[in-house]
Amino acid sequence: MSCIFCKIASGEIPCKKIYDDQHVLSFLDINPASKGHCLVITKKHYEKFNDIDPEVLVSLIKAVQLVSKKIEAELGPDGYNIINNNGSSAGQTVAHVHFHIVPRTEGDGIIQPWEPTSPEGSELDELQKRLRIENGN
Ligand code: AMP
Ligand code: ZN
Repeated sequence: MSCIFCKIASGEIPCKKIYDDQHVLSFLDINPASKGHCLVITKKHYEKFNDIDPEVLVSLIKAVQLVSKKIEAELGPDGYNIINNNGSSAGQTVAHVHFHIVPRTEGDGIIQPWEPTSPEGSELDELQKRLRIENGN
């Protein structure tokens, strides 16, 4: 097993643990974007968000909020980003699903991930048709 987050989940590699339960582990990011930057991972190896089993997904998202609330209460940041990168094109460097919780301070200069674009209205109409979900599909 070569996945670094699997090794952290199994205890083979140490981490600064914040929280764990049956499905989920949270720990401090080793190269934080800001003070208190935490990761929340699944204990089971899933590569991307869309791979996660529903039961685990519920635990994961609840843990993200739990850790985020703890950061807010303890560190009192001005704001926070909750980020989940999927695929190398999206900036995923560790191929084991994880959420970042990044505490933010006004004017901290941490780079936002995109410059807004201005698509034609017709393009938005077409995308709305293609992506519209009805009755769960
Ligand atoms: P991403 O670019 O979304 O895949 O984020 C991967 C994150 O994992 C980065 O912020 C790294 O700093 C962090 N990271 C990698 N190895 C470790 C480790 N051993 N302990 C804690 N965080 C790690
Ligand atoms: Zn893994």
